[in-house]
Amino acid sequence: MTDYMKLAALLFPDVEKTPEDYEAMYPERGLAEGARVTRFAPSPTGFLHIGGLFAAYVAKLTADTTGGVFYLRIEDTDKKREVEDGVSGIVKGLADFGVTMDEGVTGFEQETGDYGPYQQSKRRDIYRCFAKKLTEEGLAYPCFCTAEELDAIRKQQEEEGVNPGYYGKYARDREMPLAEVERRIAEGQPYVLRLKSQGDPEKKVRYQDIIKGKMELPENIMDIVLLKTDGIPTYHFAHCVDDHLMRTTHVVRGDEWISSVPVHLQLFQYCGFRAPKFAHIAPIMKLDDGNKRKLSKRKDPEAAVSYYVEEGYPKEAVLEYLLTLANSNFEDWRRANKEAPLADFPFNLKKMSVSGALFDLAKLNDVSKNVISVMSAETVLDRVLTWAEEYDRDFYDLLTADRDKALRILSVDRGGKKPRKDIAKWSEVPDFVAYLYDDLYTENFDQLPENVTPADAAAILEAYIDVYDENDDQSEWFNKVKSLCEPLGYTPNVKEWKQDPTAFKGHVGHLSTVIRVAITSRTNTPDLCAIMQILGKEECVNRLRKAANYYKG
Ligand code: GLU
Repeated sequence: MTDYMKLAALLFPDVEKTPEDYEAMYPERGLAEGARVTRFAPSPTGFLHIGGLFAAYVAKLTADTTGGVFYLRIEDTDKKREVEDGVSGIVKGLADFGVTMDEGVTGFEQETGDYGPYQQSKRRDIYRCFAKKLTEEGLAYPCFCTAEELDAIRKQQEEEGVNPGYYGKYARDREMPLAEVERRIAEGQPYVLRLKSQGDPEKKVRYQDIIKGKMELPENIMDIVLLKTDGIPTYHFAHCVDDHLMRTTHVVRGDEWISSVPVHLQLFQYCGFRAPKFAHIAPIMKLDDGNKRKLSKRKDPEAAVSYYVEEGYPKEAVLEYLLTLANSNFEDWRRANKEAPLADFPFNLKKMSVSGALFDLAKLNDVSKNVISVMSAETVLDRVLTWAEEYDRDFYDLLTADRDKALRILSVDRGGKKPRKDIAKWSEVPDFVAYLYDDLYTENFDQLPENVTPADAAAILEAYIDVYDENDDQSEWFNKVKSLCEPLGYTPNVKEWKQDPTAFKGHVGHLSTVIRVAITSRTNTPDLCAIMQILGKEECVNRLRKAANYYKG
């Protein structure tokens, strides 16, 4: 028995299984050629960042477009950062946007799939088995350095002007004799398990990143920690063991991990695993005073995915917007395939932007307006109700008190060739329909077009009351407004007015604005004729009279 074997037996007396056992338990997946296995692997901090949703969606699309598997793994090895039941927040955050997984963690203490456990805190035995193997092969060793001792090493390195870290001649315990290890362990001294790096500072590692292209980085020479004093693995080691045993083919993750790739490739190699492919995603950026910066959890409410749920963005709008950030050819595709479901888009990891995509709420609003514009009134009502039930109970009660009326309201300018595109999120709906509900309506008649005097406005409204008929359809309605123009000194012809504005008091558009303001207290609304039909004759005449009297003073 070599000293390494003895050392491994000493450190891991509890390990019963062999790496071969695990290889057999988690066999190759036997998927079709080209099928990709991807994962989203967040730490359970209870908060899903829009960048996390983006990464998860990209990983899902990578799997889905190749007939592969997308799974959720919870990386809870850092107990200090963890919040209570942080898992549910992440699972809900993903589910709210339809980023569903084929396997992995599905909720608090719940999971599905044959490659689990999918929560790192439940994989202790597995990590220890592979740590033992590395120790047996002389590629890992215990390090008993205390925090003070590591500090002293760092100070010495500062003085010598060399890179900090535990490596080479500074790696004090790297060659500790077995007898010394035995003595310290017998004494119960705490230790971490470190990688015994064989890296050469003069050499480079090369790998092909699917997003970033050809990469060349210095070889890792650090004896990084594999297992902490409590036997829990570090991210690096857990990533290597998990992505191998879960048969991940493509690691899609944030580009803050690029500098760790040399360590990871070394770990895959030392463990005897084939390394997965890497696709490193640039973070989502924001323009702040002309400077590009990362979206920040602290400064930007829109960094949390819960923001989009609370504001009432439809999930398909958020995904659609994320796709515009992910693949620059998405918008062309969308123009050519207006009605196609997102899943039909031929997503390509290689087309991801190398530097961070800019997040733009105004653009999201435009995308969302388009998405909502093609929804049926029924769908809009269902979605608004689902949102309001959670975030605006009064509005929910108002809509459900007369569902038919709500549906008629939401049907205005919907379903035709040129559907209304004014709603970007459900939280805007109460304001958009306010003039149709007494509880929400606030009168404001002080919005006349500049060229219309209050006296003229009163005259317009009174003339209109005389011709108004609640049964008029849209064209009858408009013809009546036109017919009022000339007697009042206006022209029914907008062009004519533009040619010589001094010849008239205004044009037919000004008349309809006066009526619109009287009826809705808005200068801009969907089809006014339809709105008036919903309000009914009595209410319309009341409002027209009230406004006319107001203008008369
Ligand atoms: N737990 C790591 C993180 O949250 C995951 C990185 C990875 O996807 O490998 O950043």
